[in-house]
Amino acid sequence: MGDNGRQEDNVPELKDLFSHRKIADAVSPYTEARYVVFGVPFDGTSSFRRGSRLAPDTIRLAYDNLESFEFSYGVDFLSAGICDMGNLQVGEDVSEVVDTVESVTGTMMRSGKVPVMLGGEHSVTVGAVRNIPKDTVMIIIDAHSDFRDEYMGNRLNHACVTRRALEILGAGKIFSIGTRSVSMEEYRSEEWSKVRFFTANEVRTKGIMSVIQEIESRNPARIYFSIDMDGIDPSEAPGVGTPEPYGISAVEVRSLITHFAKRIIGFDVVEMTPVYDNGNTSMLAAKLIQDFIGSRESMQSLF
Ligand code: MN
Ligand code: MN
Repeated sequence: MGDNGRQEDNVPELKDLFSHRKIADAVSPYTEARYVVFGVPFDGTSSFRRGSRLAPDTIRLAYDNLESFEFSYGVDFLSAGICDMGNLQVGEDVSEVVDTVESVTGTMMRSGKVPVMLGGEHSVTVGAVRNIPKDTVMIIIDAHSDFRDEYMGNRLNHACVTRRALEILGAGKIFSIGTRSVSMEEYRSEEWSKVRFFTANEVRTKGIMSVIQEIESRNPARIYFSIDMDGIDPSEAPGVGTPEPYGISAVEVRSLITHFAKRIIGFDVVEMTPVYDNGNTSMLAAKLIQDFIGSRESMQSLF
């Protein structure tokens, strides 16, 4: 234990032969970065299939497959200002993990950087949301309403994320998209109408442009964007902890990202669970990160 791998500093001839895994395009030092990628390898409250703690490095590995240039945005990611801090050191206690995420994302956001957080389970999002200005709109992609006041005796369980976010941001600020799993307790809660839940069926019927227009009608100046990968249909994103059939499509999520990207002040991808994946979910998670940074950096009209 101790200084965790910094021994290579004492052995200069070995220094260049080892590396910690990073997003391939993360070539900026922290001080110059506009986007700060980091992993939170925590899945301590996951209720069904654990393993999202293994997602950050799996997503980084998938990212290696992507080009560093995205022609649809005209963006070279190597000059987009991406830094990858590696993974947060986390223990077993969810409230400590959330506090740590609050602390590090606060440091990043106060210096004008955009945190790009790789979960881990969805609980970690609460730490980031504690830092965002109160007039920020939050967009959540999720199969689940995550609207329980507590679950298994814990108010920071990953089934309570949207409820905690509502306490922080207040009514009318949160748009959760792809909803198709809701408990009776959540549905009958007095708080239910304070969040706009777009069900997956509603997205399918009205189309994603109608969702975008409704969010635009609130004139959001700042947006926090959280992607629980189970919001996307399991046929496209099978590697998740709590899969739900009949989801929205990856392309619909991309449309939301590219439309709102320039106003997004914080971004996360959570609940990806490598042991249940066929490789497509980690690939998709990596691509969604590129779509976010690419469309946020783009100087051209998209597509
Ligand atoms: Mn969730
Ligand atoms: Mn979910």
